[in-house]
This record gives sequence, structure tokens and C-alpha cells, in this order.
Amino acid sequence: MSDPARTLAGLPVWDGTAARGVATVTWSAGRIDDVTASEASVLADEYSVIPGLIDTHVHLDSSAGSAPTDWATWPIITPAAEKSLHVVAHAAAAARAGVTTLRDLAGSEVQLAAARGLDDRLVPGPRLRVYGTVGMTAGHGDLFTPPHYPHRAPTADSPDECRKLVRQWARQGVHGIKIHLSGGVLSMGDGVGWRNQTDAEIATTIDEAHALGMLVAAHTHSVEGVDRALAHGVDSIEHGTGILERHWAELAERRIPVAPTLLINDRIAAREIPVTDEAADKAKGVVAERDERFVGAARAGVRFVLGTDANGVMVRFGDQHEELRHMQALFGWTAEQAMIAATSDAADAIGMPSLGRIARGAEADLVVVKGRPWERLEDLTSDSIVAVVSRGETIFGALPELTPTQGASK
Ligand SMILES: [Zn+2]
Repeated sequence: MSDPARTLAGLPVWDGTAARGVATVTWSAGRIDDVTASEASVLADEYSVIPGLIDTHVHLDSSAGSAPTDWATWPIITPAAEKSLHVVAHAAAAARAGVTTLRDLAGSEVQLAAARGLDDRLVPGPRLRVYGTVGMTAGHGDLFTPPHYPHRAPTADSPDECRKLVRQWARQGVHGIKIHLSGGVLSMGDGVGWRNQTDAEIATTIDEAHALGMLVAAHTHSVEGVDRALAHGVDSIEHGTGILERHWAELAERRIPVAPTLLINDRIAAREIPVTDEAADKAKGVVAERDERFVGAARAGVRFVLGTDANGVMVRFGDQHEELRHMQALFGWTAEQAMIAATSDAADAIGMPSLGRIARGAEADLVVVKGRPWERLEDLTSDSIVAVVSRGETIFGALPELTPTQGASK
């Protein structure tokens, strides 16, 4: 059964890179058929069309329920099948904010089950990209789980184990691999400056992931982690606290995307959410080092993309708009630069250039929004989202009735 053709006629279109003026967008079978200049509709002053937003760094397996839970305990006591329902609920919350693609960087069967259900349109929702982690014993990813707990996520402690774990993830159907090149803020008992993995382990992991057609995202807060990310050829840098001036030129020239995850570290550092003293102290250190380095990096052309680390608790699904405004302010960006970081640049960062764009042949992931967020980022709020289309289907709101300003529609 093929989908009927759909149309948005006569609204201002911002295509993921630039404003296209008033146009008509048509799509069928999940793909955009055409974008053509057209007469304005009566709603052209009020509404516009932008590509669906892409968050390149999230964690979906936390409680989406209303009952208060401890974020660290919940993943340990909740069965996998139940977690998948929470993943879908978080994804739906993101969709209501116009986010049509989420990349989960610590996935498992939980996120994969949800991703396949959403792709199959069992419930309306965005696209999920799911990455499997390859990390060491006592590394960042291993320190969310108490040492005596038996049902741990897998770890890998030699080049051979890394290669095998990449292959096991590939068999499970993940879309990419996440590695850790330093300790983290929320992992318990490490320092953000701890080295994670040896050079041989990193090189082997990246070699195997690339051989099996997967991108590698690298978590790092340390300077050494950035050095090693560049030396080994990762495909994106997550957090990037250790980015120094000497890294700027290479990062910019190779257009390696960096997800700055600003809001989450600010909130943990300021204790806006309940966290341990350990996490708050680590986040304070990260924030103190980060801002000045990032301002210079942005000016030097380092490609920062929308990546929030949203986990539904410290950064909620829907906070992507606030993260973008934070990026705009810190980097001295125009509204349009922030929108590019959340659409076409974010799509390229996750290896899916057919997303984040409104163009013939691109995926039909569209948002009808009140206002013109590429001119005024303040226009991008949850209240301003009118309709969200993913894979050609409306997953939130309703497409507006559009009549031409002159004469009757034909
Ligand atoms: Zn993360």
C-alpha cells in the first residue's frame, strides 16, 4: 500500500541551510517529491516549514513515568520490555518538540526494540538511531552499575574483545558504536580525566566498526582523549571538554562534529537537579574549563552540532530548544547557524545526509512552526510547534489547512 501524496502549499520554507521563500512542498512514500516557489497562503505570515530537528546525543532508557524514581536505580530494577515503553514515551515527547531523529549513544535491545516498532509505525514517533558502547571494565560506561550487580552491560578489555563486541553489536542491528576516551561526570567512582581504553583497543574498535559500515562516536572530557580521537579517526566527539586551541584547525578542516552537551553539565554543576556531590564537583570542573575553549573553537570553525545528552531527567526531551539557544549565545551564532547545527549539520554528523533538509529526494521529516526560527530562535518553543511529520506521516499535531491568499484553491 503506497502513501497518498501530501502537500504543504504556500508557506515560507527554510530548507536546513537557507531560506527558500514561500514554496510548496509535496511528498509521498516518505520522501519529498518537490519544493517549488509558489503563491503565499493565508497563513504565510504566521507559519513556516523547517526540517525535523536531530539530537545527535541522547539516552532514552530512563523513567518517563510520573512517579518519582531514582535515576541511577531505575535502570537496574526495571525489566527490559518495560523500559522499551519508556523509550517510546520519551521519543514521543521529543516529537512534540519537533525532534524527528534521536541518536541514543548507549543503546541495547531496549532501544533497538523501540526503534524497530517506531520504524514499523506501531506507534507514531521519531526515528531512533541506536549505538552500542565498547568500553573497558571500570570505564565510564561500566560505572553506572554497582560492582556486585550481575546483569551488566558488556565490557571489552583487549583488542580482541573490542573487535568481538563490535561484531556482536553489529549482529544485534545497532547503527553505530560509541567509545569512551575518558571518565565521565555521572559515572560513579572515576575521574573525568581518567584514561579509558588503550590505543590498541581504540584502533581495533574503530577499524572493525568502519569495516562493518558503522560510525564511531567518542565520549571525551580530557585533552588526551581529544588527541587520541583525532589520531585514530573517530567520526564525532561527544562533550569535547578537552578541546584546546591546538585542536581547532584539524577539527575544523576535517569537519569532525562535536556535540557540546552544555545544558546537562550546567544543570549538574548548579545542582538544579538532585545529584551526588561527586557528580556536581565533576560537572563544575567541566563547565569551568569548557566555555572559553568552546568560544574560540566555534570562532575557528569547529562544527558544533545539536547533541544534548538528554536523559529525560537532567535534560528532558523537549529541552533541545533551550540547548540551541544556549549554543547560539555561547558561540555568538546567528539563529540560522543554530538551526543548521540542529538540522543539516546534525544529519551529516550521524551519517544520514538525506535527513535535516527540505529538498527533492530528502526524507519527509518536516515541522510546521509558528514564526521563523532561522531568523529568531526565540520562535522555537514547544508551544510554537504546529505539526510534525516523520517518514511522511504526521506524528504530532495536524497539518494546517492552506488556502491561497488570492482566489479559491483549485
Ligand atoms: Zn551521553
